[in-house]
Amino acid sequence: MNMRISLTLVGALMSTVLVLPTFARASSTPSAAAQQAGQDKGAQDKGGEKKREQGGEKEKKDGEAPKRDAAKTDGNEEMRIAAQMPLYPLDVCVISGEALGADSKNFLVEGRLVRTCCARCEAKIKADPAATMKKIDEAIVRKQKPAYPMEKCPVSGDALGEGAVDVVQGSRLVRFCSEKCVAEFKKEPEASMKKLETAYIASQKKAYPLTHCLVMADDTLNDDAVDYLYGTRLVRFCCKKCINEFRKSPEKYIAKLDEAASAAKKN
Ligand SMILES: [Zn+2]
Ligand SMILES: [Zn+2]
Ligand SMILES: [Zn+2]
Repeated sequence: MNMRISLTLVGALMSTVLVLPTFARASSTPSAAAQQAGQDKGAQDKGGEKKREQGGEKEKKDGEAPKRDAAKTDGNEEMRIAAQMPLYPLDVCVISGEALGADSKNFLVEGRLVRTCCARCEAKIKADPAATMKKIDEAIVRKQKPAYPMEKCPVSGDALGEGAVDVVQGSRLVRFCSEKCVAEFKKEPEASMKKLETAYIASQKKAYPLTHCLVMADDTLNDDAVDYLYGTRLVRFCCKKCINEFRKSPEKYIAKLDEAASAAKKN
């Protein structure tokens, strides 16, 4: 049984979500699919769904859900979840306070990533997201502010003074000199987000600890090297192909980068 599940899982992943990191795969179990799985499985047994929610047969059914869902899940949504994952500021469920394990629910609310320990917490947030989103916003601002790379407003170019306004876009903190600039930003966020990305890259490039590609250790980083932002972290590759390789298991590569960074610090 276990064997069968892992084989079909591998098959589904190979065909549809090959470029996505591990944590994004867990996202392909929105409550609708889980519910459907619950209905199918629990048709003869009315208590099936309830039991599953209490953690009874949770693991088994969660394991099956990605296969069922892989084909109909919006690939774009998975990409957005994967992009926001390294920016997500909490390692516990925002409702229950329980640790987010491998079976955590990862989903978007108004385009923003939210993570919960279970489908019940997910439903609670979807019914009334305001308080939760505020909590997550505050955590993002707290976490990203210390290394925020811009001293100027990306809209007006003015210095960020006392009255600077903090906005969370995607799972990223962006800061503006005034509410007026925030209103401008909302009309067309892409240009400002691009400026922020460029600033993050520039602020880390000088101290970047590797002279070779993070994926292909034999390849030296030349003038045509690719600068990539993983969360707020600069990662450099010899070519775009290596980005896809990186996305398959970002944790592994980030650990390598951390190692190189701490070795560089010692010298
Ligand atoms: Zn929960
Ligand atoms: Zn401004
Ligand atoms: Zn490379």
